Amino acid sequence: MIRQTAEDKVTGLVKNIAKGRNPKPKIVITGCMVGMATRDDSGKYIKALKKRMPEVDEFLPLEEVGFDYPALRSDITHAWVPISNGCNNFCTFCVVPFTRGREISRPYKEILKEIEDLSKNGCKEITLLGQNVNSYGSDLVKSQKSYKLPNGKIVKPVIVKHLGKFRIPTLFPYLLEDVCNIKGIETVKFISSNPWDFSNELISTIAKNEKIDRNLHIAVQSGDDKILKKMNRWYTRSQYLNLLKKIKSKIPNAQISTDIIVGFPGEGEKEFQNTVKLSETANFAYAYISKYSDRPQTAAHKGLGDDVPYAEKEKRFRILDELINHRGSPRTAVH
Ligand code: SF4
Repeated sequence: MIRQTAEDKVTGLVKNIAKGRNPKPKIVITGCMVGMATRDDSGKYIKALKKRMPEVDEFLPLEEVGFDYPALRSDITHAWVPISNGCNNFCTFCVVPFTRGREISRPYKEILKEIEDLSKNGCKEITLLGQNVNSYGSDLVKSQKSYKLPNGKIVKPVIVKHLGKFRIPTLFPYLLEDVCNIKGIETVKFISSNPWDFSNELISTIAKNEKIDRNLHIAVQSGDDKILKKMNRWYTRSQYLNLLKKIKSKIPNAQISTDIIVGFPGEGEKEFQNTVKLSETANFAYAYISKYSDRPQTAAHKGLGDDVPYAEKEKRFRILDELINHRGSPRTAVH
């Protein structure tokens, strides 16, 4: 749903599955596209999906799937494990809150159980997944005073306040630690984390636990305060840079990667140069750079227009890509 090309691939896949098979298999589609379509009161999107994919028997909203279905895995040594779904942040460019709905955390015990089973079957590396992975648990915590971990220990949820603001309570540092303690697990990664929930406790947990991967992905999106505000990313460039400084002082071998959008509405040369300067200071290991594209439903689509010409977006993309991804040994970023 994030990109048109991904939607087109799904349509092609459905046609390939259905083609020439007798009897036709039952096809059920779920995920972002369906989430967006079922939340649209006008009925326009679901109608369009049905027209594009008449082979599909059922469009199932993501929240009806839950976390209960065992994943099909072909890789034995590494597993992606979803720990939360949806997002409450409403960045103005992003469709995720509309496609996946509000943030729902998977039960703590269930995550540990799945990883224990994976480990027994030979899995050594785990990547914990969530749209805002480091806010995990905010909906599980009934009282901000205490939470009982599956091992019986009573802990205080972490309230992130390092950006000068109080955020929701999170259980993510505890979960990370518990996953690292599972016998047989050698490496733990997580994605996607956001600056506003990158707490001091999370930094300490990573610092003291060698199993946690030192490649940390923390989306910045822009290096300009005016654009960050328009994006509804409620940190400033200096708060972001201070966070990186803090991480590097506690975890000296940390490598930071990021996401950047170029050509967001209102991004002129001055604003773009602020992103260039931030990238130089941050010394990112790599960045996923995307050219802003207008997505229906988002606040940017409704109120900000799309005023940066495509050729300019392309130029800015190349400048940043060259600066971040092609210094020394070239790396290819996904655009
Ligand atoms: S960009 Fe990330 S944090 Fe922002 S709304 Fe989308 S999923 Fe949520």
